[in-house]
Amino acid sequence: MSRLVMKFGGTSVGDVERIARVARLVAAERAPGRGVAVVVSAMAGETDRLVQLARAAGGEGGNGVALSGAAFDDEYDVVVSTGEQVTTGLLALALRRLGVPARSWQNWQIPFRTDAAHAKARIGEIIDAAIGPSIDEGVVAVVPGFQGVTDDNRITTLGRGGSDTSAVALAAALNAERCDIYTDVDGVYTTDPRIVAKARRLEKISYEEMLEMASLGAKVLQTRSVELAFAKRVPVRVLSSFVEPGAPNPGTLVCPEDEIVEKQVVSGVAYSRDEAKITLLGVEDHPGVAADIFGRLAEAHVNVDMIVQSEARQPERQNIVFTCPERDAARAAETIEAAREKIGVEEIHIRRDVAKVSVIGIGMKSQVGVARTMFAALAQKGINIEAIATSEIKISVLIDAAYTELAVRALHTAYELDAA
Ligand code: ADP
Ligand code: ASP
Ligand code: MG
Repeated sequence: MSRLVMKFGGTSVGDVERIARVARLVAAERAPGRGVAVVVSAMAGETDRLVQLARAAGGEGGNGVALSGAAFDDEYDVVVSTGEQVTTGLLALALRRLGVPARSWQNWQIPFRTDAAHAKARIGEIIDAAIGPSIDEGVVAVVPGFQGVTDDNRITTLGRGGSDTSAVALAAALNAERCDIYTDVDGVYTTDPRIVAKARRLEKISYEEMLEMASLGAKVLQTRSVELAFAKRVPVRVLSSFVEPGAPNPGTLVCPEDEIVEKQVVSGVAYSRDEAKITLLGVEDHPGVAADIFGRLAEAHVNVDMIVQSEARQPERQNIVFTCPERDAARAAETIEAAREKIGVEEIHIRRDVAKVSVIGIGMKSQVGVARTMFAALAQKGINIEAIATSEIKISVLIDAAYTELAVRALHTAYELDAA
């Protein structure tokens, strides 16, 4: 008996006609000896609508004092998780209409356990009690993505884009042969095909590269889903839901590095506009200062990314620049401001109009001159680099956000990724 997990994102289940097409794709994958479980997202736009509703009732934008943290997040999860639940029932109905035995499974019925970090919960164990045998009997299981339950049976959600993670976790628990992620593009591209018309679909990409691509901004897969697939060795395929059953649909396979014969120096370019740059000028220069600053930021749950330190003009002072997600910027600045005298910082500045652009490739490990190509391509377009970060398989630069698309296109061309 083999098992397959299929996942459909928001656009793919955007209306009842699209759900009917999804049902046909699912029906075509069912076969004697092969059970199918389907993970679905909320219909396109639905999660945004539910988020607004929750905020209007209790968070920012409503009346009275805005609730936040523990007083808000658990009920936020109750509200926003309903989008996916609706889709499970609709798809189960569409399948039955085609004569395919199907049923929805809500998370508490499986159950899909997570920790209690509401709005950004992490999946732990999935207790595969009844769902596995049910799909083995030929009944398609339709499961809501993006959510789980705590040990106290409270509903949690996994962060935006979390249905990908649900699908991979289910595939791991069911020991599925593969997890197919159906979306509105026909695979993983060398960069976001919405901003570079010459982007190319990759036939294969390694887990490591996909992990960097996702965490550096390519939202085609949620980062956590790739981490989980890598850890549990779940083969993942990304492919289009906008085809009829039987039409060619090779997609992109996310797989171990050693399955990729031709290792590209650069496989892809990613970007993120969710960045802020904090500059600390005239910071006292003695051992322990960086530990003090970044210790305080960690305690305030600021997710610091790039860090650049340089000598200041004044003697025994330095300047420190760091980046963090935009939503953390105000908290970061307040945290330092509150201890400014104690740490010894003269000035604090925040810039929000910055973006991070990254090139990623496993071939980089054994190649020289990769950074030079990047810096030269940006210089040729007159784009200034404000910070740099590297790892074995990626180089990221921070630039003025106004040049994001120009930079992505220039790098795509410079690394010879453009489609003919
Ligand atoms: P879903 O609703 O199916 O989960 P998402 O909107 O989360 O879909 O992800 C698909 C989108 O990811 C595409 O429409 C595309 O614009 C974007 N994207 C960003 N980078 C890439 C990339 N490198 N390859 C493919 N798609 C990408
Ligand atoms: N519906 C959720 C979102 O929009 C989860 C998902 O689609 O993956 O973020
Ligand atoms: Mg998504």
